[in-house]
Parts: sequence; C-alpha cells; structure tokens
Amino acid sequence: MSDYLVKASSNATLRSVLKSVGVPTPVTLERAQGAYQERFLEGQKVLVGATAGTTASAQIDVALESTGANVERADTPQPADDEKFDALVFDATGMQGVADLKSLYAFFHPVARKLTTNARIVVLASLPQAMESVSASAAARAVEGFVRSLAKEIGQLGSTANMLYVEPDAEDRIAGPLRFFLSDYSTFVDGQPLSVTRAGIMPETVVSTQPLKDKVALVTGGARGIGAATAQRLAREGATVVCLDIPQDQDTLEETVAEFGGTALALDITDDNAPREIADFFKDKFGGVDIVIHNAGVTRDKTLANMPEHYWDMVQAINLQAIIDVDAVLSDEQIINEHGRVICLCSIGGIAGNRGQTNYGATKAGLIGFVERRGATDRERGVTVNAVAPGFIETRMTAEMPFGMREAGRRLSSLSQGGEPRDVAEAITFLTTPGAGGVSGNVLRVCGQSLIGA
Ligand code: NAD
Repeated sequence: MSDYLVKASSNATLRSVLKSVGVPTPVTLERAQGAYQERFLEGQKVLVGATAGTTASAQIDVALESTGANVERADTPQPADDEKFDALVFDATGMQGVADLKSLYAFFHPVARKLTTNARIVVLASLPQAMESVSASAAARAVEGFVRSLAKEIGQLGSTANMLYVEPDAEDRIAGPLRFFLSDYSTFVDGQPLSVTRAGIMPETVVSTQPLKDKVALVTGGARGIGAATAQRLAREGATVVCLDIPQDQDTLEETVAEFGGTALALDITDDNAPREIADFFKDKFGGVDIVIHNAGVTRDKTLANMPEHYWDMVQAINLQAIIDVDAVLSDEQIINEHGRVICLCSIGGIAGNRGQTNYGATKAGLIGFVERRGATDRERGVTVNAVAPGFIETRMTAEMPFGMREAGRRLSSLSQGGEPRDVAEAITFLTTPGAGGVSGNVLRVCGQSLIGA
C-alpha cells in the first residue's frame, strides 16, 4: 500500500502547502537496490571525528577504506557555508567521564545543519558494562541518549542516527555493522544501538560482496510478506534458500521460490514431527544449514477479556514454542553449521506491548529472552543468534488496519512513514553476513524510530 503523504511531499509545491498547515511531509527514503557493492559510498562525503583516547579509529579507517567515500577528518569541524555531508561517524570509545561528552557537542553542533537528505550518522561508544569506572560506564551509556535524540531531530529529512557499543578488543569486528549503518540498506533502522563483542570466533575471511555464497538458508513462513522478501534478498547475496510454509499455502510457496530458484518445504512448524523433519531435510540434502530465519508468525488479536482460549494457544504454539523446539534439535545435533546465523522475527509489540495483543506480545517478548540466552551459547562455534523487531511495515496486515490506527503507526516515528518488507529483509540479511559475527544476542528494531513501542 503506498503512502499518500510520501507521494504528495515529493512535489515541492504540495510539500510547502502541507508544511504550512502542519501536516507531516515525509521524504522519499533512499533504499539500496540489488546486492551489496564494495564501493557503496562512491563519491559520498563522510566526516569522521573522535574524542580523545579512542580505540576504534583505526578500524573505522579500515571499514571505510574500500567504500569509495571521500573521507574528511575533524574533531571540531568548521564547515564552509555551502558544505554538506552524506555521513558523519564519531568515535566516542575513549570517553572516561561526563566532561568528555562535550566532544559530542563540539563535533556535531557545527555540522547539525550540514547534512544531505537521507544522511547517515553513526556513533561508536564503549560497551558500558565493560568499563572499569562508574563514570566511564555512565558516559558510554549517555551516548545512546544523545544518538536517539539526534535521530529524532534529523528524521524529517530521511536521515538516521544509530550507534555501536564496542567491547574492548572487539574493534576489529566493527566493519560489517558500521558499513550496514552507513548504507542505504539500513534506511528504516533509526535511533538503534547494536553491541559488538569479542565473544566467539569470526570467520577467517570476511567478504563484503556475495557474502552468502555457499551458504544454505531456511526461512520459515517464506511464502509471502517479510519471509518472501528475506528469502529473495538472501538468494541475491548468493545463498541457497529453502522456504518453509504451511501445506495449505503450497501453491503460493512454489510461486515465491520459483522467482529466485529456491526450494519449497511444505510443513507446519507446529507439527510434532516438524523439528525432526527439518533437521533430517537439511542433514540429508545439504549436510547442515548455515542460516535459520524463524519468521513464521501469526496474530490473533483480542483484548484478554474477549480472547478465546484457542487464540491464546495458537499464537504461543506458532510464534514461540515451535521456534524453541526446532532450534533445540538443530543446535543439539549441530545441524547448524559453524558460523551459523539464527534470526528471530520479534516485534515492537514484544518490547512495549500492544492493546489486544497479550498473546502476541508475550510470544515476541519470549523471543527476546530466547535470543538473549541463545546469543551467548554456541559462540565457540561462531554461531550468532539475534532478533529483528519490525515496527509499522506496509504489508497486507497493516493495510487492513482502521485508518486512524494506520496513520498513527506511520506518522509516530522519526521518519514519519512506515517501512517496507524489504527494510526488514535488509536488517535480517545484514545479521546473516560473516561480517556480523561480532553481533549476538541483540534485538535490532526496524521501525524508523517509532514512538509506539519506544
Ligand atoms: P505474513 O502473514 O505475511 O506471513 C507469515 C507467514 O507465516 C505466512 O506465509 C504463514 O502461512 C506462515 N505461517 C503461519 N503459521 C505457520 C506455521 N504453523 N508453519 C509454517 N508457516 C506458518 O506475516 P508478515 O507480516 O510477513 O510477518 C512475518 C513475521 O514478522 C511474523 O513473525 C510477524 O509476527 C513479524 N512482524 C511483522 C510485522 C508487520 O508489520 N508485518 C511487524 C512486527 C513483526
């Protein structure tokens, strides 16, 4: 479903009329097309700054080296009147106390009005819990408040601000996440932190184009929606993709996989034998699986007082129990290969709760518990487990919402519009890449910094 305000705002005259009467004028968001490119920042101007005593600056240089960006450096920039930047990167990993926070002001204040539309800001801070002093922990955590607030100030122009928490000695793992946040693959990820840690092992070589070549992926609920978009995206990066969906949807499933040469697996994940069948399928056909996207999910909304018992049971069985059961077999029997990637589809409803979704909110919050726990196990084999939490995404489900609710979902975000299934697919795809090996146990919101669920 297209957004009438994004359309209207793309016309300069209409945009100024709408603005004058106080109606939101969301910009057309730039979204990367196609597969990952090495030089994805070709010709773009990136300003890099740092606070004193930082630890990540050398690795920021490495990450930017082959992107084609024109990199400038200044800790206290003095831009020319007509100067604009496509991206700002600030390394705040050296912060030891409150006084150091002033370096954020010194770097960002002079360039706050110097951003192009759809610009990217990324700030790196040390992981607060890894800091030795209380004041260093507080300063590192303060950076998140700064980034989230700044994101709210720049979102009207389609620009985003995100951050990386970096554990000491994990600096050599930041390239993948930094490149993702700087790219137009992260268009609808805004105001979000990701933690990069030194737990587990990284692949020996990390390539940035066709990173999923020779990888085998399973996408549950892959017949349509976010699952189908994700399957297509993984295939474009070179993965062999198996889409699983319920037998009643076999025709749609076959059509979806035909588009990218994938394989259809018609199965209900709540069947008692589903974990065994999935494990045997991948073991026999491919010798294992590298990427598991637990995407299948349903809603059965009613306020708790009006909720029939079968609504409760069905949502628990599909959205949570089946994932735990399938994962248990795949991980216990090491069907998931070394450097495997497991990604769950959570929801902002699981973070903040939603009226009429006690059943759904419980399952999606349960998945956060699952990911936080599982993200720490199997690290010695390089396996990572993360979640993405979509906000308002333009799908069949949200098109059916009453107008008022739909408008609230779209506009109450920093980007004043909803996302697209491909935005979620991009976040998932990034988390499956070898370069995301330092990210595990994270829940990454793909919500345009929605106020709902904040
Ligand atoms: P969708 O309804 O378009 O697709 C879900 C797919 O899962 C369907 O093809 C369905 O047949 C399949 N499925 C359901 N039960 C199954 C089962 N027992 N076994 C196998 N397959 C089964 O949904 P979507 O909007 O693409 O959502 C995908 C995931 O993202 C879900 O987990 C959902 O909770 C989550 N999510 C979506 C949004 C959104 O705005 N669309 C927001 C937050 C979270």
